[in-house]
Amino acid sequence: MNKTIRLSGIAYESLVNGPGMRRVFFAQGCKHNCEGCFNPETHDFSGGEEKNIDDLIKDVLKNKMIKGITFSGGDPLEQADKFSYMAKAFKKSGLNIWCYTGYTFEILLEKMKNEDSIRELIENIDVLVDGRFEINNKKEGLRFRGSSNQRIIDVKESLKQEKISILEY
Ligand code: SF4
Repeated sequence: MNKTIRLSGIAYESLVNGPGMRRVFFAQGCKHNCEGCFNPETHDFSGGEEKNIDDLIKDVLKNKMIKGITFSGGDPLEQADKFSYMAKAFKKSGLNIWCYTGYTFEILLEKMKNEDSIRELIENIDVLVDGRFEINNKKEGLRFRGSSNQRIIDVKESLKQEKISILEY
């Protein structure tokens, strides 16, 4: 695997992309094309910037204020091999990992059967916020998600129980 990842941006110390102070990596590239997407510039798979993954990891581990990592987008699942590499490194350091995706958890459970990188990413994150942004389900005051169809899923519990476990925020 080459050690570069294509990102549309980084939020260095974010308080709005999951609980606590988090480093947020915004993937570049998304196929979902949701109506009303807030970040259409993140869709192009050749846009954004390529970054060295090991440098990104090192820079997080230097900052002791950071309690968690969030993968957002774009759609991080389109670069699952790169994000799973990052997730494994952060997990070793005890950081809590959230991942956003336009795919539903059910679709990813199917994809996991054939695609190792997706399985490894799912198995190494704590929380998945799933599903496309649906403008008709947009509601003010939703925490950590844009539309009410999106779910904040406890991934470990869901895999263990073989039943989707939803976190309330
Ligand atoms: S999944 Fe996210 S980035 Fe992709 S089109 Fe939908 S809202 Fe935009």
